[in-house]
Amino acid sequence: MKNSRTQYEDKTKEQLINELTRLRQRISELESLENERKRTEDEFCIQQEKFEGMLAAIGDGVDITTYDYRVVYANDNLKKIIGKDELEGHLCYEVFLDRNAPCKRCPMRRAIESGRTETEEILQPNKKIVELSVSPLRLPSGEMAAIEIAKDITERKQAEEALREARNYLENLFNYANAPIIVWDSESKITRFNHAFEHLTGYIANEVIGQKLHMLFPEANRNESLSKIARALNGEYWESVEIPILHKNGDIRIALWNSANIYTESKTLLATIVQGQDITERKRAEEALREAYEKLEMRVKERTAELARANEELRLEISERKRVEDELRIKDNAIESSINGIGIADLKGYLTYANNSFFKMWGYDKKEALRKHIENFCHIKEEAVEVIEALKNKGGWIGELKARRKDGSLFDIEFSASVVKDEAGNPICMMASFVDITDRRQAEETLRRSNEFNRSIIESCSDCIKVLDIEGRLQFMSRGGQQLMEIEDIGQYLNKSYEDFWKGSDYQGAFDAIAKARKGRVANFSGYCPTADGFPKWWDVVVSPIFGADGKVDRLLSVSRDVTKRKQVEEDLKKVSDELARSNADLQQFAYAASHDLQEPLRGIEGFVKLLTRRYKGKFDTKADEFFEYIVDGVKRMQMLIKDMLAYSQVGTKGKRFNPTECSSILAQALTDLQAAIEESGTVVTHDDLPTIMADASQLSRVLQNLIGNAIKFRGEEAPRVHVSAERKGDEWVFSIRDNGIGIDPKDAERIFIIFQRLHDRAEYPGSGMGLALCKRIVERHGGRIWVESEHGRGSTFFFTVPSGE
Ligand code: ADP
Repeated sequence: MKNSRTQYEDKTKEQLINELTRLRQRISELESLENERKRTEDEFCIQQEKFEGMLAAIGDGVDITTYDYRVVYANDNLKKIIGKDELEGHLCYEVFLDRNAPCKRCPMRRAIESGRTETEEILQPNKKIVELSVSPLRLPSGEMAAIEIAKDITERKQAEEALREARNYLENLFNYANAPIIVWDSESKITRFNHAFEHLTGYIANEVIGQKLHMLFPEANRNESLSKIARALNGEYWESVEIPILHKNGDIRIALWNSANIYTESKTLLATIVQGQDITERKRAEEALREAYEKLEMRVKERTAELARANEELRLEISERKRVEDELRIKDNAIESSINGIGIADLKGYLTYANNSFFKMWGYDKKEALRKHIENFCHIKEEAVEVIEALKNKGGWIGELKARRKDGSLFDIEFSASVVKDEAGNPICMMASFVDITDRRQAEETLRRSNEFNRSIIESCSDCIKVLDIEGRLQFMSRGGQQLMEIEDIGQYLNKSYEDFWKGSDYQGAFDAIAKARKGRVANFSGYCPTADGFPKWWDVVVSPIFGADGKVDRLLSVSRDVTKRKQVEEDLKKVSDELARSNADLQQFAYAASHDLQEPLRGIEGFVKLLTRRYKGKFDTKADEFFEYIVDGVKRMQMLIKDMLAYSQVGTKGKRFNPTECSSILAQALTDLQAAIEESGTVVTHDDLPTIMADASQLSRVLQNLIGNAIKFRGEEAPRVHVSAERKGDEWVFSIRDNGIGIDPKDAERIFIIFQRLHDRAEYPGSGMGLALCKRIVERHGGRIWVESEHGRGSTFFFTVPSGE
């Protein structure tokens, strides 16, 4: 202070004033400076606060580090990134990197030295990755420092790394995928092409990338393939489409394609990615497999056919073998069971084999017969030797021999023998088949005798027996026939046609009979054929077929019976019968006329007798009155007789046509007519069910009336009981009328049906004796019969039949 005072004193006032002015100026300057400073300081504070706020606001860590590595400022974010609270005042490499020496290429120093911002990524000891951006900064002190902005990029880095890895992975996946993958853009230019596709096409990626797809397709299918691709580009999704690919070397490979379109977010097509699958080999394998299969199939078919053929051959062979075996067995059986005796002998003539029939025929058993010489089996030994010789010379022998049995008895044999040879033609043995012809011989003898017998019958037969050939020509005529026909030399008639025998109208009968017999049936006809001498003869002829061995008619047998005499008798009979019919008719006419015409004078007699009786009764003696009564009685009987005779004669002529007639009705009618007699006698009439038959009702009623009337009339002690019944027997109805009357002696059973035949005195039982005769006539007109079964005193049963008419 002392120093300052001195100075003031030393100076002039002016100087002082000047000094003062200058000081005032200086003070004013200082004041303005101070103001300026304060303002600046305020501004600085504001700026600093702003800066501080900014640094805090940006998420990054910020520090300021001086050239000599000292951290003079660090914001909170940095502290968080570094993971420490105390940073200011420390050396940067120590606090940031836990190092004890600065980094060789320190970014802070490089930034300060270069004056540029340096950027570097730093791996912090705490494994965080920090992107450090360092810019030079001059501190207000003039000291050089750097402001460092640290960004924690750990997550980003990790994401980048993951992305990179994923990319690599995908890239590898794409490039090294087994499946060929191709990508093309919306203009069909190939953009990606993996190794498998390189392998598929022989191109390397560089050769095809940027090229149009076309190059990958063979000419022939290109358009088709491209149109498929166009469809793919239009968004159509393929699923396993086969597209052929052209290999660089010209080969064609078949690929199975799967596609997917890739779009931008704005939905425009970015690319098409296609994954192919080379199925060429598979196709080839399939083709080869198909061919192999076809070949196999073919082979199987061939083999099957071969097998079938072989099988068929085998089957044929088996069936052939079976057939041969069967044949052998059959032959064996046939030989063994043959009814022919079969024997085999060696070439010297010793028996080596014989079947059952042989042993039976000769009566030896097997042991005894075998090894015997065949001469032992013959009656004459020399014959056996002859046969052996003949066999040796000619190879065969057929003939008959007399054979000798073991017991010495002889029998006839027919046999055929032959020499059996081996394949080379050398004789092995002799074989013979024997038939015992003893029976046949006997049968032949029997047949011969029977033929002789037949012939003698035929010859002695009185009919004319002829054998004709199928055309009807005469082959044989029995001797009897020749006699009947008065033929002396049959030779001239043999082979003559039947037309030569049967002439005129009878020719047709013979013709028809022969035609019928030719068809295998028996035919009859009658005809006229005169004898050779012209004597007239009538014949009944039967023509029968004679069958040949083949079952066909080969000849005809004609048996003609001479019916000339019968014919004559028949003709005579016809004449008599015609005569009888005529006389019958006359008689009937006569009976009718007589009974009709007799009635007239009888009625006259009756009238006059009645007149005489009325007028002269009692005028003569009593005898005369008695005579009148006889005359009246006689006239009455005569009238009854005439009436019955008239009825009898009119049965045929006045009868009505037959109509269906209910018998119960006509019975009722008959009973009505008999009512008085029934009541008077106390008769009981019963009946069964009666049929309806074809009849003349009034005539049949008359029959019933007569028969029941007789039953009442010829009653015994008891009251009469009459039963009427009808029974069907075969094709007729048998009616019966049974009574309990006096009965009839069987010896009179037929007589009572004869006209006027009576068994009793008129005084005892009145009647004309016409009743049963009338019944007989009516029943016969109906085609039936009438009879009585009775015993004297035991009632009678009258039967009559009427055809049922069915
Ligand atoms: P008629 O009754 O007029 O005598 P028929 O021809 O009817 O004549 O009978 C012939 C005879 O047959 C009879 O006279 C009688 O002797 C015998 N006759 C007929 N019917 C009977 C009967 N039912 N029982 C016994 N005798 C009978």
